[in-house]
Amino acid sequence: MSKEKSDFKHVNYEWDEAHAATLSPVERLVYRSNILGSDQRITNTGGGNTSSKVNETDPLNGESVEVLWVKGSGGDLRTSKVANFSSLYQEKLIDLQSIYAATTPNGVKTEIEDKMVHMYPHTTFNLNPRPSSIDTPLHSFIGAKHVDHMHPISFIAIAACKNSEALTKEIYGDQLAYLPWQRPGFDLGLKMQTVYQENKDCVGINMGQHGLINWNDDDKACYDLTLELIEKAGRYIESKDRGADTFGGQKYAEVDADKARQMTIDLLPYLRGAVSQNKRFIATVHRDDAVLEFVNSNDAERLAEIGTSCPDHFLRTKIKPMYVAWDPASGDVDALKASIQSALEQYRADYAEYYEACKHANSPAMRDANPTVILIPGLGMIAFGKNKSESRVTAEFYNCAIGVMRGAEAIDEYIGLPRQEAFDIEYWLLEEAKLQRMPKEKEFARKVVVVIGAGSGIGKEAAFRYIAEGAHVVCADLDLAAAQATADEISAKVGMGIGVAGTGVSSCGNVIACQMDITDADSIQACYDEVVYAFGGIDVVALTAGIFLAPNVDGEFSVKQWELVFKINSVGPYLVADTAKPIFVAQGKHMKSAVVITTSVNGVVSKKGSVAYDSSKSAANHIVRELAVELAPYARVNAVAPATVVKGSLMFPRDRVMASLAKYNIAYSEAESTEDLRLKLAEFYASRTLTNAPITPADQAEAIFFMSSDKSSKTTGLVFNVDGGLHEAFLR
Ligand SMILES: [Zn+2]
Repeated sequence: MSKEKSDFKHVNYEWDEAHAATLSPVERLVYRSNILGSDQRITNTGGGNTSSKVNETDPLNGESVEVLWVKGSGGDLRTSKVANFSSLYQEKLIDLQSIYAATTPNGVKTEIEDKMVHMYPHTTFNLNPRPSSIDTPLHSFIGAKHVDHMHPISFIAIAACKNSEALTKEIYGDQLAYLPWQRPGFDLGLKMQTVYQENKDCVGINMGQHGLINWNDDDKACYDLTLELIEKAGRYIESKDRGADTFGGQKYAEVDADKARQMTIDLLPYLRGAVSQNKRFIATVHRDDAVLEFVNSNDAERLAEIGTSCPDHFLRTKIKPMYVAWDPASGDVDALKASIQSALEQYRADYAEYYEACKHANSPAMRDANPTVILIPGLGMIAFGKNKSESRVTAEFYNCAIGVMRGAEAIDEYIGLPRQEAFDIEYWLLEEAKLQRMPKEKEFARKVVVVIGAGSGIGKEAAFRYIAEGAHVVCADLDLAAAQATADEISAKVGMGIGVAGTGVSSCGNVIACQMDITDADSIQACYDEVVYAFGGIDVVALTAGIFLAPNVDGEFSVKQWELVFKINSVGPYLVADTAKPIFVAQGKHMKSAVVITTSVNGVVSKKGSVAYDSSKSAANHIVRELAVELAPYARVNAVAPATVVKGSLMFPRDRVMASLAKYNIAYSEAESTEDLRLKLAEFYASRTLTNAPITPADQAEAIFFMSSDKSSKTTGLVFNVDGGLHEAFLR
């Protein structure tokens, strides 16, 4: 019987038959996958896979042939397109069984099992380049036309119970079979084939400590069944809910949200530095009712120690999270840091012990021993990953794990994956090979860069330069709308990545916008707080904002103008660096942070009509030298000194350009566009330089980038000219 929305409370029913009817069989598979993946309760990011066996025309002979379309390696169901699915000759996949059967030994974790993965590309239909998933045999060997394999929170709760098999029988009767935990692969596919062939009433399998797989010959019926099975799990768990006694009841009182946010901000740079001794990490803060109920509970410490159950979760969350014992009512962040320090030492020692106890002769070397999930009473969860997207996925996965534990503990007792099994997944040679094949990380991939003045000109150019190197970029500007426009432009280019988690600004992608008045320390602090909550810390501050005010026609320049020019061009650079200093110090000197201030070659060139601007830039040059001393050894501080970057610059509005053209006796007409007038002026300026080349925002962005890059890691306190070669500005 066909299902509808109102039949479901624990999952979103999204099937729209009118829409599905317009789609081809493969498009229907993509559609089914997308709507399954759109509900986190049905499956997690990157987790689960779907398949359809479709008759296609064989390009080799024009005959009809059965093709298995199955979600391939990488990507996730929610955002999958046809290109994310591999297509394989079903008959050839079945034929692989004879190769497998003829090899001894065979079975789970034998050499032949990993080798079979390399056979799948030989069965490719129509040159589809998408690599096959290790779950491919599960989908192929189950004879039904359509198969869904999901990682639903409520269902895994049953799969992760001590008495999972008995519970499966109780809840599902003959509908579901039970297979104890086994790593996915050829052998698991064969076991499922046997279940499918020998149990005619059976419509799916509880994959112990892993998830759900079910099937039907009709795709909509398969979707309906998937939701029905998950709904059943959800209702069963709901009927056994323990209410206030969940997780053994509350141990710590809740902390006011604003207070918790401030404590988290005070903690994050320290925490990021502490877990980033080997490699930098980016943070995601996740603080919702479900997480708080867990971290504040009596059972959190015990359950955290058991670790995550589902292997897909486990790959990112590590074998277990780090739980920090701390009473949030004390509000003492220094005490929290001390607890974290000892918890970290214990965690790393445990990890090394686990590696030593479980490793095989051919295991890859031990990976980073730092935790990726940190649980703190009162504050919530802080997850770390190699970039924002990965840290969001990690937070999402442990969030799912909390849901699993909540369900499992309500109906039975939660158990973790056996330690050796966990190790064999984490250090699986197939996974290691995948890691080795990944492209080399870009230099700024794990860094957070605050570009101040990103709304236009050099700042905007610099924001794009950093994004090209994989950075997380904060577009800060006095003009929030301009900063937001740059951030939106970047966002449209780089996308959001994967992973659904994060509280407030911490749910962001690789770029955020922020309002900042560099003459106001509170405004700078508010922006940095936002950045820290979003990403965990700051690695680079690049300041491009500045102001040029000209005297009036009579040469008059007011005290107010003097004050404004010095406030923006001299005090501003000091404030943005000085306010960042506590963050750099908390992260630690191993993080090698950097500040790049845009000054000007005019700081050393005296001329008529710009006494305030030139002397404010001269002060800025020396402030950079002083800051280099003040911020050592935590951050390098350097200046980039441009000259006459006219193109796209707010510092060269139309009337200033025309005034300059008049001053240098260059002919122009009022009818010319501002950009044409700027070009004329830029060419004139270029003619005065030794290289005869106009200086562009891109030239400046490259220099800023270089001065903050590890390529200039031995340089601090330097003013670096990017002026096309002005001999008046030579070092003296
Ligand atoms: Zn799975």
